[in-house]
Amino acid sequence: MPSQKRRLAQQQNGNQKVAKQNCSITSFFNKDSTRTDETTSVETNITSNQDVVAQPITPSKPKNSKHKTGFDAAWLTAFTWLLVVKEPDSSGNNTDVMYCKLCKKHRTYGYNGSKTWVDIGYRCLRRDKIKEHQDSDQHKDALKQEVNHTVSDMTAKIATTAQKSIRDALKVLYFLISHNLPLDMFSSFIDLCIELGATNLGNLRLAKCASYSSWDIVQELLDILSSEVTTTVISDMQKSPSYSVMVDEVSDNRTIKHLAICARYINPAGEIQNSLITDVELQNATAETLTKTISTELTNHQLNLQDMTGFASDGAAVFLGKKTGVATRLKTSIHLLSLYTAEIIDLP
Ligand SMILES: [Zn+2]
Repeated sequence: MPSQKRRLAQQQNGNQKVAKQNCSITSFFNKDSTRTDETTSVETNITSNQDVVAQPITPSKPKNSKHKTGFDAAWLTAFTWLLVVKEPDSSGNNTDVMYCKLCKKHRTYGYNGSKTWVDIGYRCLRRDKIKEHQDSDQHKDALKQEVNHTVSDMTAKIATTAQKSIRDALKVLYFLISHNLPLDMFSSFIDLCIELGATNLGNLRLAKCASYSSWDIVQELLDILSSEVTTTVISDMQKSPSYSVMVDEVSDNRTIKHLAICARYINPAGEIQNSLITDVELQNATAETLTKTISTELTNHQLNLQDMTGFASDGAAVFLGKKTGVATRLKTSIHLLSLYTAEIIDLP
């Protein structure tokens, strides 16, 4: 019947139009090279008449595949963590498989415990799969660990280099002090050592370092040495059953008064030892100020005032005056009834 034939023809026409439309829509999406495999899979279902291979697992190039497969040497440059080795597949043929050097090194596995890329080679030789691994949490975790390791290695290296240069600078400073040479020669000595091939000292000048070869570092090094020596002396004094104090008051070339406090004590080796404890500036040189300064300095160093059994100074009345001298004040204020006092020249 002509009318039925016409209807059939119209229906076929309609179907062809829909199929053509589907084709063009799919073609449009297929142009997008950034789509995911999930998208590919959905599209494959919609246009099942199209020959799309979503998950190629062999390093061949299937016809009409939207992904290039097979190993490309350029990937090694693009992904420096990539490691490609030949391993036998299920058929016993040697094929390329991919590993991640970083995930292997830090033993980072996938969330589901997957050992792919670490212990099991990845066989799908596709660039997008490599990129996928690079963006995965597994790989980011490995990268984070790698960065931490690198930073700690660098820090250790810097610390060692810095320590060597400071150690050598201390040697130069010690040389100047032990030969009674002026400390402002420090910079010239450093320059001379570097010129003669001292490698470590060159690092003092690396970080804009004018300050590290100048007077600043001399003061800094002296402070460090002083602090170290003081800590040892005080520690030994604290262990001594008793100690004596020797003091002297002087004025410097700026006419500022100073009080030098020295101590005699028994060191841990059982020997008598004399050491300088401190040198402090004074507001004035009255007996009251001197007594207070001595007490404060000893207390600040965590020394027990009751362990002081001897006091010595020059014969100045301010120190040894019987009524209001420093020795008398110490005896009464700290209740050191057995404090032995003596002039420096008579010190036993
Ligand atoms: Zn990785």
